[in-house]
This record gives sequence, C-alpha cells and structure tokens, in this order.
Amino acid sequence: MEKTPVLAVVVPCYKEEAVLCETHKRLSQLLDRLTAEGRIAPESYILYVNDGSTDHTWSIIKDLHQNTPYACGLNLAANVGHQNALMAGLNAVKERCDAAISIDADLQDDINAIPEMLERYMEGCDIVYGVRRERKTDTLFKRTTALAFYRMMKIMGVKSIYNHADYRLMSRRAIQQLCRFRERNLYLRGMVPLIGYQTACVYYNRDKRFAGESKYPFKKMLNFAIDGITSFSVKPVRMIFWLGCIFILIAFFVTLWTLRVYYLHDAVPGWASLIISIWLVGGVVLVSLGIVGEYIGKIYIEVKDRPRYNEEELLLR
Ligand code: UDP
Ligand code: MG
Repeated sequence: MEKTPVLAVVVPCYKEEAVLCETHKRLSQLLDRLTAEGRIAPESYILYVNDGSTDHTWSIIKDLHQNTPYACGLNLAANVGHQNALMAGLNAVKERCDAAISIDADLQDDINAIPEMLERYMEGCDIVYGVRRERKTDTLFKRTTALAFYRMMKIMGVKSIYNHADYRLMSRRAIQQLCRFRERNLYLRGMVPLIGYQTACVYYNRDKRFAGESKYPFKKMLNFAIDGITSFSVKPVRMIFWLGCIFILIAFFVTLWTLRVYYLHDAVPGWASLIISIWLVGGVVLVSLGIVGEYIGKIYIEVKDRPRYNEEELLLR
C-alpha cells in the first residue's frame, strides 16, 4: 500500500444541530493536518449522513457542503436508526475511498485515535477497532448497563470486541464484504468481526458529549441489546430446550415424591395425577418448543443469507 489513501469519515447524525459545526471544525482540522503530513490524499472527505432529523441538521450539512472543504452529505428520507444510517453511509463511500472511518457526530470518541488507526491500516490491517480504555466520563448507570451488555453478548456466543462501539476504520474491501451481508436487523459490532482479515485495536478515552443529548435512551439501548442477541444467536432457543429437559427431570422426582405421599398419606383424589401431569406436560411442551425452535433457528440463519466465506487470496497457476 504505497499510495496515499483517500479517507472517508462517515458520521451518522440524528438531530445533531447542536454539535455539527464544532464536529466539522475538529474533523477538518484533523484532516488538514493529515493531508499536510501526506498521510491521506487531499480528496479525503467527511460524509455526514442525516438520519431523517426533524431539526436543522440537514440544512447545516448543506451549508457545510457549500462553504467548507471536506464536507459531503447524504440525506435519508426517514429516520432509520443509527446502524442503518451508518450502513447507508458506508455503502455510499465504498466505491469512493480506500478506507473509511465511522464515528458518532458527538465526537465522544477521541478523534486523535484516527492517525493511529491510519497507521495500522498502512501496516496492512483491514479493520481497526477503536476500543474505549475506560469510561470515567459515562454515568455509573451507562457504565454498568454497557458492561452487563457486553458480558451478556459473550454468554450468548456473539463474537464482538469488548468495549468497542461503532468507531472503527475499515478498508474498502472490508466495507465491500460488509455490504454483502444482506440482513435487515443490523448489529454492526457483531457483523464486522465475521468479515475476517487482519484486524487491530486502537485504545482511546471516551469523552463527554460536548453538546446536545444522547439519542440512546435506556429503552433504545435495551432494544439494541435484544436486537444484537437475537440477530446473532439462536442460543435462547436452545435454552428453552434445556429448560424443558430440566422440567422433565423434575417431573421424575415429583412423580416419586407424589407416589410416596399418595401411598403413605391420604392424598386428595386427583391430586397425584394432576401434579405429575403438570410437570411432565410442562417439560414435554418446552422440549417440543425447543425442537421446533431449532428448526426456526435454522430457517432464520438461511433467510439471513450471509456470505458463507470471504476469499482473501486465491493463488492459481
Ligand atoms: N443516531 C442516528 N440515528 C438515530 C439515533 C442516533 O444516526 O436514530 C446517531 C447520533 O446522531 C450519533 C450516534 O448515532 O451520531 C450515536 O448516538 P448518541 O451519541 O446519542 O449515543 P450514545 O453515545 O449516547 O450512546
Ligand atoms: Mg454519543
């Protein structure tokens, strides 16, 4: 990779009028510096993706596009959520850059990690993850819920990078591969590690939002977590199956106990058969659900139609 790369910075924006100008100022300064140092091509740019904001976000982006260097814009017709907006942005830049960095509009993720990301890229990494070193600036609530979330994902068997959000650099070919994932429920943090290629992590400290407020209230965060798990893991289904097995096991012991009570003491007529059937039928129903679920899980995976593999190199003669 000798040539200086064209860098695209993709910034999803939803009702970000309070931060956009400052964000653009900071990012432009950084791009100025990187261009001057000859580390990125002068055609590099910043793509602001307006995610159907109802405030002045888009007019600000249009204004920046006209009056400042680097600024480009993509206006989505309706609000589709952070992940979809990001995907739209990556899709738009994939033929127009050598590498793209995605970053939130509030710059809570330190932009000074970008030069290091570029370094890793120049060393041959196709994906460079920005990883938060610590979360001192987040509220205790956000910190604990976020940690619980990453842990939960791990238990559920979703391969993801601990403490990494959507701040990352991807090479052109990595983005192209990502675009081959045709699923609708996007959980990019889980999808990107499936691509493969050589990866690296760059560590940074997370800042406070300098203006505006979080667009991820608790409810959205919870939905995001559920999306993440259900888009990547059929483990919950298997849990139902095992729960059913446990119920059947319990049914066995309950049967022994019930029969004992039935013969030794005077049980109310109908009690023994009722108790036994409750546990046994409950267990059988759960196991059956689990089995049906396994098939649905298979259908789910087929329907996603993810690429089976990603060819990196093929040597022929
Ligand atoms: N965002 C978006 N669409 C949405 C919600 C959020 O594009 O429906 C963008 C938002 O503008 C920001 C990024 O997603 O650039 C992350 O949002 P935020 O900073 O509010 O989340 P937090 O950092 O609090 O988790
Ligand atoms: Mg933020």
